[in-house]
Amino acid sequence: MQALVVGAGLVGLAIARAAACRGHDVIVAEATGGIGNGVSSRNSEVVHAGIYYPTGSLRARHSTRGRRMLYEFCASHGVAHRKCGKLIVATDEAELAKVETLLAQGRHNGVEGLEMIGGNVARSLEAELSCIGALSSQESGIVDSHGYMLALWGEVEGRGGSIAFETPVERISYSAAHWQVQFGGRDAGAAAFDAVVNSAGLGAQALARRIEGYPAGMVPPLVLAKGNYFGFAGHPVFSRLIYPTPVAGGLGVHVTLDLAGRMRFGPDVEWIDHESYTVDPRRADKFYERIRAYWPTIPDGSLVPDYCGIRPKLTGPGEKPADFVIAAEPTHGLPRLVNLFGIESPGLTASLSLAEEVVDYLET
Ligand SMILES: Cc1cc2nc3c(=O)[nH]c(=O)nc-3n(C[C@H](O)[C@H](O)[C@H](O)COP(=O)(O)OP(=O)(O)OC[C@H]3O[C@@H](n4cnc5c(N)ncnc54)[C@H](O)[C@@H]3O)c2cc1C
Repeated sequence: MQALVVGAGLVGLAIARAAACRGHDVIVAEATGGIGNGVSSRNSEVVHAGIYYPTGSLRARHSTRGRRMLYEFCASHGVAHRKCGKLIVATDEAELAKVETLLAQGRHNGVEGLEMIGGNVARSLEAELSCIGALSSQESGIVDSHGYMLALWGEVEGRGGSIAFETPVERISYSAAHWQVQFGGRDAGAAAFDAVVNSAGLGAQALARRIEGYPAGMVPPLVLAKGNYFGFAGHPVFSRLIYPTPVAGGLGVHVTLDLAGRMRFGPDVEWIDHESYTVDPRRADKFYERIRAYWPTIPDGSLVPDYCGIRPKLTGPGEKPADFVIAAEPTHGLPRLVNLFGIESPGLTASLSLAEEVVDYLET
């Protein structure tokens, strides 16, 4: 097959790599001048164990399987990562009950390495932590997401595929048993493909609306939920990922670490109606308040605005969180076309597994 993947984020690159590994000719069209310029460079870089998501959902299935595949890929391709482990902490009895529910959920999802620990054990692991108990997840970790994308790109090219940068896909239609694709940008023009994957992240809905004959009712709404991060200006005090009990719309303001050991906090949840990438320093007040629940001695003035990312959600505040949507021929009736919608967290963790399923759809 001659396959076109739209979007050189980590999901698009993982799909392109999976298709190239199965012997297909792959071209990736990317609107910007480089890889990972969208959601993929604005996340927590956490490899999730797969605890939170409803059993049987795509997010649960692909995060547990994808996590195992990601660790193997990183080990075999020299991508920096660390299985540092994570604690989901409870600061009162109500939270403890919630965290115990998460343990059950994680076990239903087939997640390995989970156990409840008491407050004293948690403090023996992380001296600055204040909690009455925690769920310890040994399989959680961190990864250099840019290194991961470079490794994917290398493998796509190594197998004869390529990325066309500054090449936005403008219009797609199906005729003569092929997908006819109109490109803009640097090399504006048209080309025909056997298969097309729309992996355009925040642009996926806009692109789907430009696919001739694609049912309008099958394009879900795009709901933007910004996640802001604050860096910690001081010596890191935690060596594991520390998460509070989850909040509506996100996993709560947590401690993330990068591979250099630096500590940052976030992301929070800020519902927005257009893309914007500034972090309002006034949000720090809420961060201190939330962080003090599990780290009471965080010094005043230690948080500095860092970056933010935007989650491409499909449901809004108060609504049930949506699953990933992989819209393929069985749902929309068009051959060898896959639209991906709502690929928010844990998209990084899930990417290699998700990619296999997408290529399976193209091949059937
Ligand atoms: C705040 C935040 C924190 C997160 N933390 C984690 C985490 O810790 N762990 C985890 O597993 N996941 C996490 N995620 C999720 C993860 O980052 C995403 O699921 C993943 O990056 C999505 O990748 P993508 O390739 O689908 O999208 P993107 O990276 O956005 O790529 C889409 C690409 O398509 C291009 N594009 C758009 N329209 C067109 C067009 N018409 N033609 C050509 N190109 C086009 C864009 O330029 C972009 O480069 C987080 C997400 C957010 C927002």
